[in-house]
Amino acid sequence: MTNIKTLDGKAYALKVREQVRQKVSSFVDKGQRAPGLATVLVGEDAASQVYVRNKHRAAEKAGIVNFHHQLPADISQSALLEIVEKLNKNNNIDGILVQLPLPRHLDEDEVIEAIAPAKDVDGFHPRSTSALYQGKPTFVPCTPKGCMVLLESLGEDLTGKTAVVVGRSHIVGKPMAHLLLGANCTVTICHSRTKDLAAHTLKADIVIAAVGRMCMLTDEHISPGTIVIDVGINRGDDGKLKGDVNFDKVAPIAKAITPVPGGVGPMTIAMLMANTCIAYEARLGL
Ligand code: NDP
Repeated sequence: MTNIKTLDGKAYALKVREQVRQKVSSFVDKGQRAPGLATVLVGEDAASQVYVRNKHRAAEKAGIVNFHHQLPADISQSALLEIVEKLNKNNNIDGILVQLPLPRHLDEDEVIEAIAPAKDVDGFHPRSTSALYQGKPTFVPCTPKGCMVLLESLGEDLTGKTAVVVGRSHIVGKPMAHLLLGANCTVTICHSRTKDLAAHTLKADIVIAAVGRMCMLTDEHISPGTIVIDVGINRGDDGKLKGDVNFDKVAPIAKAITPVPGGVGPMTIAMLMANTCIAYEARLGL
């Protein structure tokens, strides 16, 4: 198949971040305070530290003020909830992000539910989830939102398209399926108990892979002309990052495909900046 289109998430994310920067700067020029993003990191998990650092850098570049809380791994549930409550009450903070996963002794659900829904820029609060599932989205989780923006960047009408989401997590698969439903796609969600995965994916116009298994989707799962969004991030034995889709096999037949790295990953951070800006504008009534 000719005309393969690699969806350049890195370039698109920079575009979104620049739009946020310009918006923020225009408000600040008019005398408004800058938006504030609070990040809460519990413990010393190396991957989480990198994620939070990248978010800080992006925020700084967008003119968003970081309020970072690095907390000890053995912090108690009540102490963590107290911190979240303080952030809820701080008028200079528009978005609150608690980096997941939390250490095992902490109740993640209770912590997420403690975040004020108006500051839920990660979109994991039950109020945000419920709004999305009711077709009236408020804050949409950043990764599926980024996938949707990339899909829309193709400029195709998604109405009536058959979409298969592989993976049903709360963070990616489920919200992704609801976003696609909202765009009038006919949606199937596959998971580890799905029988004959290929029978589903081969029928799809759009496949979203969010599994966490390196290169598991090949040209045996994807039909020519399919749009493929690869959310997976897996580190190969050679230390390189790879997606859930075997890019070399699928790219030649796909209509469009996101690479890993440089596809969905950068969009996630860009969407966090966009969500923070939305929260800021809503809170200040701009
Ligand atoms: P989870 O582990 O929470 O979910 C994985 C899903 O894949 C589950 O629903 C599971 O099914 C399903 N699954 C597992 N094995 C198979 C299989 N053989 N066939 C079909 N489905 C299967 O992962 P996440 O959703 O959090 O993340 C998925 C991937 O996306 C990971 O690689 C992660 O690193 C990446 N990611 C990337 C982000 C980015 O910014 N680009 C952000 C977030 C995640 P079941 O429910 O039955 O167990």
